[in-house]
Amino acid sequence: MHKIIASPFLTDYLVLRPDSRQAIKIGKNRYAELLGVVSDSAAICPTWLVNAASQRWGIDLSGEKISDTALVRQPSPYGFGRASYELNLGCDPHGMASICKVGRDPKVPLMDEGIGGLTRLGDAADALMLRTGGCSGCALSGSCWTCRPLAKLYQEAKAPLTRYCQHGGR
Ligand code: SF4
Repeated sequence: MHKIIASPFLTDYLVLRPDSRQAIKIGKNRYAELLGVVSDSAAICPTWLVNAASQRWGIDLSGEKISDTALVRQPSPYGFGRASYELNLGCDPHGMASICKVGRDPKVPLMDEGIGGLTRLGDAADALMLRTGGCSGCALSGSCWTCRPLAKLYQEAKAPLTRYCQHGGR
């Protein structure tokens, strides 16, 4: 079990620790440094990482081999945030991938299309976030805190507006 995980996450780079909600935000250069030395069995954790891990989690990585201590995730060729592996649990069954557990349609059948099918999810997300249906023409959509797929579910369930919508006076 690795003590820490370094990973690209959208436009940032994070160091995470299993079972901890806290993270260390690092720059691209420091992520590249970790990626470059993680396969070197003689390399030890750099001082900046030792200090940051001590401050964030109270753990001592001084003198530890980085190959034993850190899992450094490769950048995704599809632009996805691989840190989400550590942050999100329980997504996409039977190989059906969707943008999230609320916006489940459209789905991409990964068993049929392979990993390349994930590239279709960006367009799916853009389409799902359009303020259509019950949110069509809403003048408050610019400051809406409810994502459109979730609002759609509330509207279909005829939930009280106070639960999800600014028109409910919340
Ligand atoms: S404020 Fe209500 S109607 Fe307007 S976009 Fe948000 S959920 Fe839809």
